[in-house]
Amino acid sequence: MNFELTARQKELADLGRRFCDEVLLPLEQVADEHGELPMDRRDGVKDQVRAWGLAGINHRKEHGGLGLSMLDQTLIEEQLGRVTNGLWSCVWRPPVSLKFGTAQQIKDYLLPSCAGHRRGCFAITEADAGSDPRQVKTRAVLKNGKWHLAGEKWFVTSYNASDFIIVHAHVDDDPDKPTLFLVDKPADNLVHLRSPKFMHNFAFDHAELRFEDVILPEDRMLGRIGQGFELTKDWFVEARLQIASHALGAAIRAAELANGYATTRHQFNRPIRDFQGVEFMLADMAVEIFATKSMLYRVAWEIDNGLDRKLVHAHASALKLHSSEMAGRVIDKALQVLGGRGYMRENPVERLYRDIRVDRIWEGTSEIQRVIVAGQIRKRGLGVFSGWS
Ligand SMILES: Cc1cc2nc3c(=O)[nH]c(=O)nc-3n(C[C@H](O)[C@H](O)[C@H](O)COP(=O)(O)OP(=O)(O)OC[C@H]3O[C@@H](n4cnc5c(N)ncnc54)[C@H](O)[C@@H]3O)c2cc1C
Repeated sequence: MNFELTARQKELADLGRRFCDEVLLPLEQVADEHGELPMDRRDGVKDQVRAWGLAGINHRKEHGGLGLSMLDQTLIEEQLGRVTNGLWSCVWRPPVSLKFGTAQQIKDYLLPSCAGHRRGCFAITEADAGSDPRQVKTRAVLKNGKWHLAGEKWFVTSYNASDFIIVHAHVDDDPDKPTLFLVDKPADNLVHLRSPKFMHNFAFDHAELRFEDVILPEDRMLGRIGQGFELTKDWFVEARLQIASHALGAAIRAAELANGYATTRHQFNRPIRDFQGVEFMLADMAVEIFATKSMLYRVAWEIDNGLDRKLVHAHASALKLHSSEMAGRVIDKALQVLGGRGYMRENPVERLYRDIRVDRIWEGTSEIQRVIVAGQIRKRGLGVFSGWS
C-alpha cells in the first residue's frame, strides 16, 4: 500500500493553494458585501484561471481539459474549498454529461466550455421535484422536427454566468423518458423569474426560470431519449467528490484559523489553548479532518483505479454524507474557539459557517445519501463499507 503523493500531485496541490490565496481570497470580502462576485471582477478572474493553467480541470485532454486523474483534481479542489462565497466556482468545471454529446455538441459546447469561452448551468430541480426528480413536470415534445420545452426550474446555480443551460425534462410527459436538452441563452420564451437570496453569498446566482414553449432544433438533445439519469450519474459522483473536497478544505482553513488564534489569544493570563476545553476542540477538529482526508483520497483513488461503478457510487455517497456533516461540526467548533470574533462577518470562519450548510442539501441531501448507503448495505452487505478490496 503506497499512500505517497507523486511530485506532480504535490505541485498540483500547491498550485491550487497559491491560486486560492493569491487570486480568490482577496475577492472574498467584496463578494460578500456585494452578495456575489461583482460583474467588473469576473473577466479578470477568468483570465487568471487560464493564466494559472486551471482551465478545464475535470475533462480529458481530447475534450480540451487538463487530463487530470480524480485524485489530481481532488488535490486542487481541496485547496479551492478554503475560499468562501463559493468563489471556487470561478474555476469552471464543464458538466460531465457534455462528454456524451455528438461530435458537433462536443465542438460547440464542451471544447469552448473547457477553454472558458462558454459556460453551462444545470437545471433539474423544480418546485415539486427535489430529492425525487421523477416528479419533474418540465416536458419536451417533438413537433415537426423541433423540440418544444415547457416548465419551470428552481435553484439553477450560475445562471447569470452561463450562456447555455442543460435542462432535464420528460419527453412526452413520461417520467420513464428523462432526457437532457441544451438551451442556448438568450432564448425566445425563456423567462428569468428571479434570483432569490440564500443563506450563503455565492459567486453567481441561483435562478428560477420558466420555459414557455422554448423551441429547440432536434439536435439539441444530449444523449438519447430516456438517458437523462444515466448521463448525470457520472456528474453526481464527480460533484459529490467536489463537495467533499471543498468541505475538507473549508474545515482545514477554519481549523488553522482556530489553532492560530488559540495560541495568540490570552485570557486569564494564558493562551486559551492551555485550557483543556479549548484544546480538546482542536483535537476533535484535527481527528475529523484526518479521517475525512483519508476517506476522500481513497475514493478518488478507487475511481482512478477502475473500481466497480456501483461501488464507487456507494462510496461517493458515504463520503459526501460524512464530509459535509464533518465540515459543519469542525467549523462550528472553530467559530466557538474564536469567540465573538468568529461571529463577525469579516471573519472567514463566519462565512465558512454559512457557506458549508448547503453541502448537506445540494447534490442529494444527507438523508438521500443515507438512503443510498442503507440500500447498498441491504443489497450487497455491510462489506461494501466495512471491507477493503
Ligand atoms: C444553493 C442551492 C443551489 C442549488 N443548485 C442547483 C442546480 O444548479 N441545479 C439543480 O437542478 N438543483 C440545484 N439545487 C437543488 C438541490 O439539489 C435540492 O435542493 C436538493 O436536491 C433537495 O431538494 P429539495 O430542496 O426540493 O428538498 P426536498 O426533496 O423537498 O426535501 C425536503 C426534506 O425532506 C427530506 N427527504 C426527501 N426525501 C426523503 C427520503 N426519501 N428519505 C428521507 N428524507 C427525505 C430531505 O432530506 C429534506 O430534509 C440547489 C439547491 C440549493 C439550496
